[in-house]
Amino acid sequence: MKDGDGGPLLEVNDLVVDYRRGQTTFRALKGVSMTIGPGECVGLVGESGSGKSTLGKAILGLAAVTSGTIGFAGQDITRARGAARRRLAADIQVVFQDPYGSLDPTMTIGQILAEPLTASGAPREEARAAVAEMLEHVRLPSDAVTRYPSEFSGGQRQRIAIARALVRRPRLIVCDEPVSALDLTTQSAVIDLFIDIQRETGVSYLFVSHDLGVVRRICHRISVMYQGEIVESGDNERITRDPEHPYTRRLLLASPVADPVRQAERRRTWLGLRVG
Ligand code: ADP
Ligand code: MG
Repeated sequence: MKDGDGGPLLEVNDLVVDYRRGQTTFRALKGVSMTIGPGECVGLVGESGSGKSTLGKAILGLAAVTSGTIGFAGQDITRARGAARRRLAADIQVVFQDPYGSLDPTMTIGQILAEPLTASGAPREEARAAVAEMLEHVRLPSDAVTRYPSEFSGGQRQRIAIARALVRRPRLIVCDEPVSALDLTTQSAVIDLFIDIQRETGVSYLFVSHDLGVVRRICHRISVMYQGEIVESGDNERITRDPEHPYTRRLLLASPVADPVRQAERRRTWLGLRVG
């Protein structure tokens, strides 16, 4: 895999992550492999505790890898730390679930968005221009720069978090349950924003969610995780039309659909259930 040869941007190969639990170890990832191409959105879906965040953390350098490799743009980043990891921060960013905990309440939006740039040595004028552009990207008014996080709603704060992730023009954003704390209407608007931003910037997403209904709206491909393993992956269309793994079928039945007749039909054929 070399940068620019048309290969994947991210390539995770047979990744194992163990956590220490007192005297024992717990294997959170049991040999996970996946790729994400430039401009691609890959969904990672599975129930709570299945290991989704652990994979995101390993990519971000926040979880220690036991074995396996993580390649990014042709480079082995599995154990990148220190200066190498700080350089990667320009290319790999993150948006977390919690729109209330992730923004420093004592900083203005302008300071929050400029900080990743000025910290890496960008001139203030350049940072100011980039901040204005990012606010436009996430559809927030330009006067947001002088205001504080507490003046914004949950959905607006998530837009700010997205702008902060975008400001260094990364190539990959790990989105860990980024809409899970939002009400349905806000969720829908923020998903649309993720889609628009991808179209406008060509950034790639690893989009983590416990909700298959969310990932199927935004992702090109979907990987289904169950107890530390990817049990099924494929194109969005194929996974949602014709899931192979029983666990994927369960997830699909648990996600709300627009067509109740089709859902009832699925229940019958997948689970052998009679639906009255
Ligand atoms: P998900 O994001 O799918 O809910 P996680 O990746 O957060 O799952 O967690 C996977 C498993 O690893 C869970 O059983 C969780 O309890 C465990 N786990 C996560 N982080 C740690 C940690 N720092 N130490 C020990 N166990 C952990
Ligand atoms: Mg998680």
